[in-house]
Amino acid sequence: MHVVMIGGSDAGISAALRARELDPAADVTVVLEDAYPNFSICGIPYYVSGEVSHWRNLAHRTLADLEATGMRLRTDTTARRIDVAGRKLLVTTAEGGEEVLGYDKLIIGTSAVPVRPAITGLSGPDALGPADGVHLLHSMGDTFAVMRTLDQAAPASAIIVGAGYIGLEMADALTVRGLHVTQLEQLGEVLPTVDPQLGALVHAELAAHGVEVLAGTTVQAITTAPPGGPGRLEVIAAAADGTAVTRQAGMVLVVVGVRPETALAGDAGATLRSKGAIAVDPMMRTGLPDIYAAGDCVITHHRLLGETYLPLGTTAHKQGRVAGGNALGGNRKFAGSLGTQVVKIFDQAAARTGLRDHDATGAGYDPVTIETTADDHKAYYPGSHRITIRVTGDRATGQLLGMQLSGHKNAEIAKRVDIAATTIYHGMTVDAVSDLDLSYTPPLGSPWDAVQIAAQAWVRQTRPR
Ligand SMILES: Cc1cc2nc3c(=O)[nH]c(=O)nc-3n(C[C@H](O)[C@H](O)[C@H](O)COP(=O)(O)OP(=O)(O)OC[C@H]3O[C@@H](n4cnc5c(N)ncnc54)[C@H](O)[C@@H]3O)c2cc1C
Repeated sequence: MHVVMIGGSDAGISAALRARELDPAADVTVVLEDAYPNFSICGIPYYVSGEVSHWRNLAHRTLADLEATGMRLRTDTTARRIDVAGRKLLVTTAEGGEEVLGYDKLIIGTSAVPVRPAITGLSGPDALGPADGVHLLHSMGDTFAVMRTLDQAAPASAIIVGAGYIGLEMADALTVRGLHVTQLEQLGEVLPTVDPQLGALVHAELAAHGVEVLAGTTVQAITTAPPGGPGRLEVIAAAADGTAVTRQAGMVLVVVGVRPETALAGDAGATLRSKGAIAVDPMMRTGLPDIYAAGDCVITHHRLLGETYLPLGTTAHKQGRVAGGNALGGNRKFAGSLGTQVVKIFDQAAARTGLRDHDATGAGYDPVTIETTADDHKAYYPGSHRITIRVTGDRATGQLLGMQLSGHKNAEIAKRVDIAATTIYHGMTVDAVSDLDLSYTPPLGSPWDAVQIAAQAWVRQTRPR
């Protein structure tokens, strides 16, 4: 049995590890187009900031660790075409030649590519790029380009286009490196994956650390700045009321989301759906014979929404493991995502799981969201912090649909969103959160945990006696 994975990161390596774990005799080949197998691209901001001292430290496992599991890695090798009927994969090798690899089972993990928005100066023959200090950010190659700009051009300032979680992490990272950062976001508030009430708390944290945040500001063009200004690049934008906004900086980072990279699968005849992602069933089968797919290139089965596209590293690991096991004859299903995520911005963390009001309404629920604040641990013990918690539940059934939290980075925001994720996974009501047997000692918690206090507030306000 020869199993071939296209993609040597979260999805591809998870699949390969699972296949080797289930059958140490399985012949497993991982094909990846760069030289960085199993790197944690989620850690890129912390390498840029200097908190992670060397890029090699971002590897979940080294090449030697991976090879020790018995898998074969083909680095700098790009998959070009799949011959579905012949069960063959055409690749361009590291030396530039072409080679055909036979397979019995194929797992596609070609990921996503950064969206290049329609901003003048970003595309076309005269487009500005890394050599000019204009960057997109997704891969280790992109990271090295950013580091070259930082080291060689030594910019004093940066403009970040986009205030999603990666843009915010990079605002933190570049500020830690000593750059003055301006963050431009076209939506009305930063971190649009949470409600604006929590986004406003993140906004305040950015401002407190010297980041200039311009929300409701749409970037129209990036150009070379006239000489004599504070930076070599100029960004021209429009505020919500149409007023022109111009800023100059030494580098510009554009991070406005990703789109699935699916040309290879699409050319092979795979069905493409949400946002052009590869349609897979819960067993991660594409519908093409013996071809599975996983990670940022596939649609996401969401436990409450059904089919969507929600690319995350956690999801890619799980899907890859399912695909790898099923390629070897298993019948495991990907249980579905809840979009659980957490981000640290300076001293603040923000997290969400499940649905917000608009998602829930779209899925046929009748959502009510109640906001509460609670201490992360007993306030009499030093170092306590208030956490803001927004609980979303269904008015009719009381089912917990979603939770969003924001608070100090040491306030166990991640643990608490994970409690909510577990509760939602099991279809429990908001009221039942109070029944959970959660841990307590005054320096670390309260007899009623903050999530239980928030759940009780929701019940009190939606279930008046
Ligand atoms: C800066 C940053 C921070 C992030 N932070 C988080 C976080 O905190 N939490 C979280 O859950 N997610 C985070 N993510 C998202 C997460 O990294 C992705 O969801 C995850 O890496 C997707 O895994 P993947 O295997 O599908 O793709 P990738 O990890 O992107 O790997 C794709 C692989 O495919 C290879 N490849 C692609 N096309 C071909 C081809 N034709 N031939 C051969 N090889 C090919 C590439 O070389 C690579 O090895 C972050 C992403 C970024 C960029």
